[in-house]
Amino acid sequence: MDTRILKELELLEVAGLYGLSTAAPPMSSPAIAPASAPPAAKAVAAIPPAAPAAPRVIPADWNELKAAVRDCTACGLCRQRKQAVFGVGNEAAPWLFVGEGPGAEEDEQGEPFVGQAGKLLDNMLAAVGLARGREAYIANVVKCRPPGNRTPTPDEAAACAPFLDAQIDHVKPKLIVALGKTAASRLLNTEASLSSLRGRVHAYRGTPLIVTYHPAYLLRTLPDKAKAWEDLLFARRHLAALA
Ligand code: URA
Repeated sequence: MDTRILKELELLEVAGLYGLSTAAPPMSSPAIAPASAPPAAKAVAAIPPAAPAAPRVIPADWNELKAAVRDCTACGLCRQRKQAVFGVGNEAAPWLFVGEGPGAEEDEQGEPFVGQAGKLLDNMLAAVGLARGREAYIANVVKCRPPGNRTPTPDEAAACAPFLDAQIDHVKPKLIVALGKTAASRLLNTEASLSSLRGRVHAYRGTPLIVTYHPAYLLRTLPDKAKAWEDLLFARRHLAALA
């Protein structure tokens, strides 16, 4: 569009912001909008539509998936992470434990559940005869540490969902254990309370799923440890019945 006309419409700066050419139009185009049309509306209509975002590719290959998680910038959590925390354990484990997201120590070390809550989780696993790296794989709803260890937002959980789904597809666990409300909400798509979800076998995309307390919660609420113990025994019985 002609620079002089844009100036008159006070849209010269706006045109520059949108990368619109201020070169004179080809002779066949009308240089000025018809008098009946509001000039500003005509100028805005000339802005080309935004290019559609490139579809996100989630690799099925395990190493490529790890690299995609490492380099992910799909949500704002990438800005403050030291590193993304992929997951740990036996990649063909019958048990898959899903936590919430890395804390400070996990962010530092690049492995899920290495802090105090992780020690408790390892003890809980040992109590039912399991170990990470043997019968268990451990992953989180989000792979990057939420600042100040806050709960991930639903948008952050949704941005990371394809990665957790790809991990589940690869590990093919016989049973998923959702540790805490964030994991339960994400995998069961519900806002129901944790206590109402315990003690039942749910399913996530065809895989049996049980819900129990998050180890960090148990560190603060010792009496509920006994309930988490019941949940794991319930899960072990269910798995044994499947065999
Ligand atoms: N809490 C989680 O939910 N995940 C971790 O990896 C560590 C603490």
